[in-house]
Amino acid sequence: MSHPRVRLRNMRSERRYRYRLYPTRGQQRQLARTFGCARVVYNDAVALRRNLWEQGGVKVGYGELDRAVITDAKKTPERVWLSEVSTVALQQAVRDAHRAYVNWWQHGAKPPRMRRKHGRQAFRLTQRGFRVRGAGDGSDRARVHLAKVGWVKVAWSRPLPSPPTSVTIVREPDGRFYASFVCAVEQRPEGPAGSPGAGIDVGLHHLAVIVNADGSVEKVNNPRHLRAAERKLARAQRALARKVGAKKGEKASANYRKQRQAVAVLHRNVRDLRADHLRKLARRLIHENQVVAVEQLNVEGLARTRMARSIHDAAWATLHRYLQEAAELHPDRHVVKVDARGTSRRCSRCGCDNGPKPLSVRTWTCGCCRALQDRDGNAARNILIAAGLAEIENACGPDMRPTQRHAGDADGEEAGTRRGDHRMCAVAQ
Ligand SMILES: [Zn+2]
Repeated sequence: MSHPRVRLRNMRSERRYRYRLYPTRGQQRQLARTFGCARVVYNDAVALRRNLWEQGGVKVGYGELDRAVITDAKKTPERVWLSEVSTVALQQAVRDAHRAYVNWWQHGAKPPRMRRKHGRQAFRLTQRGFRVRGAGDGSDRARVHLAKVGWVKVAWSRPLPSPPTSVTIVREPDGRFYASFVCAVEQRPEGPAGSPGAGIDVGLHHLAVIVNADGSVEKVNNPRHLRAAERKLARAQRALARKVGAKKGEKASANYRKQRQAVAVLHRNVRDLRADHLRKLARRLIHENQVVAVEQLNVEGLARTRMARSIHDAAWATLHRYLQEAAELHPDRHVVKVDARGTSRRCSRCGCDNGPKPLSVRTWTCGCCRALQDRDGNAARNILIAAGLAEIENACGPDMRPTQRHAGDADGEEAGTRRGDHRMCAVAQ
């Protein structure tokens, strides 16, 4: 269950720490050169491999690839400018291309594609290529030294937990620069949890619906400021669609480029607000619960057509990742993924399959036990049950066990009505 961004290694996990960079104009030019060279080397490596593969399934190793697209290429007039940037960055780009091919050959991933000149740009340096200064001491000496770029100003918004093993330098589409360091962090116990477990479901009208093992339900929405920012972004994107973009062989209009920049800035704003909200939610859930149960994400099912839906799914995927990351810091915290098929059809009280429900149906009454079920709360409770953190109430059997209070109670459902329903349940069965 390890996530690619957090690799477990002897009770230590690796994690990313991202900081904003403030390069000078000269440094920006040198960074742009490095992004460009790393991209060219990556693409050369992909093209070389592709050609050799098409010429009869030849596979070349990393060493040969490195020599061909870096060392030998530097001696040619077409690629002589590769010498102007850090070799470490180029080697890491070739390593990425190599890994992309291995993933394709061995793990069934998609074949590697060429990297593009537009959008997010990145290159990576290992320990040989960078040094940090004033990390977290609040001094104005805060800098990171990047090979062939120099000391770049950095905002250490939080201290680095340990000496970083690598750094990825990024230029986002909005023009901002960031350094993302990989650091090892020690695991430490989080201590006693308030609750043994919680089941979390992606709500139809909520970001998340949380059902605690004691039966209480909490519905989490996106905060108001995030929703406002999302609306603003949607408006800006519609405005961009109306402006004239670049046609073949022409430059995009000045208005279009201006609007594109505005969209990128709003996009960053929304992304940062959302990440902040989700990270806080994940940390709270991990702090409060020993086990957090979530449904197994169906990645193919995530490619949905409706915009609102896809944004929601993306947020859900991000929450998963943050939960995983937060749990991996503590040996006494766990995230359990359960197969969530049928969670919306099954009654979480008696286990009856009530068949598919159109999305418009928010509440329904179970055909077996007559329990009034709230769509979202019921699904989250089923996830809790699937993870073994709660039991089906088995209200119909003669050996009625005392079970936890129903989540429906929190929604204002009358307990008295339900007691009456028990009898009907016995008849129905
Ligand atoms: Zn039922």
